[in-house]
Amino acid sequence: MVYLYVCYPNLRYHMTSLIKSIQDIKNVIAKSEKSLALVPTMGSLHAGHISLIKAAKNECKTTIVYIFVNPLQFGPAEDFKEYPRDLAGDLKICEENNVDFIFAPEISEIYPDIEDIKNNPIKPPPELTNSLCGKTRQNHFSGVATVVKRFLDIIEPDFIYFGEKDLQQLHVIKWLVKEFNLSVNVKSCPTIRETTGLAYSSRNKYLTPEEKTIAASLYKALKLAKGNTRSGIFPVNKSILESLIFLSHFSQIKVEYVEARDKANLAKVPDDAKHGFYYLIAAKIGKVRLIDNIEVV
Ligand code: AMP
Repeated sequence: MVYLYVCYPNLRYHMTSLIKSIQDIKNVIAKSEKSLALVPTMGSLHAGHISLIKAAKNECKTTIVYIFVNPLQFGPAEDFKEYPRDLAGDLKICEENNVDFIFAPEISEIYPDIEDIKNNPIKPPPELTNSLCGKTRQNHFSGVATVVKRFLDIIEPDFIYFGEKDLQQLHVIKWLVKEFNLSVNVKSCPTIRETTGLAYSSRNKYLTPEEKTIAASLYKALKLAKGNTRSGIFPVNKSILESLIFLSHFSQIKVEYVEARDKANLAKVPDDAKHGFYYLIAAKIGKVRLIDNIEVV
């Protein structure tokens, strides 16, 4: 084995176990070295997910990636059925990155009584969920909180990893951990981007090459707003307006929101804020809804 690894360092030698049942994951966890890292995903893994896996591998002895397309967090008109699924590709990526276990349960394993859970989800506070993405994606964040709590109860990791790309989700998770007094450490990882600036997302697969080029304008618009604010040229609202004007040149882009929100609690910020907040954007390119954000430090 050592000989093979020295001569062929890219040779895959780590077997990632694919586990489907709660009992099996509990059994392997009982035998695993601590500390234990959990990386929640909906699969169709890309460089953004890999950065979370790498952070987990750096900090913990055992890493579990969960892959679960959570029906609770999709609205009736959203893309639950069409959401990209590629378990074989995900397994390969996890093996290449020395993930110990993929936990990919069926829906019935996680929600034995899905109607009951739909009627009794965890409800994060309205000030976290009524604005930004929550405005158009009703019940989305209660679906996220409910599923993450379920996986946390099953796996009981020491650390759980999330991307800053989904900034509102990250705040909901921090609330969840505090609200239920959970003994897990929430780690956040920076957004990973393509060279064009486009943030990696599983939904990028649905963009045509032309749409993908245009989608990079979302990050350009965020950088423009940040530059205008930091240089003192414009206050916050005028910076947002300038970015909206820039985006209006692309007929394929339908902006849902561009907003400035406080770093600590996602509250609105005063017009004269200069730092300590994020510009956040959500927009549709064709049928594909994308989100992104930039910190103004
Ligand atoms: P998803 O599979 O889309 O639910 O994402 C799973 C996790 O990966 C979430 O914590 C996301 O915030 C994170 N993630 C998704 N895209 C990126 C990215 N481009 N950079 C860093 N983290 C990301």
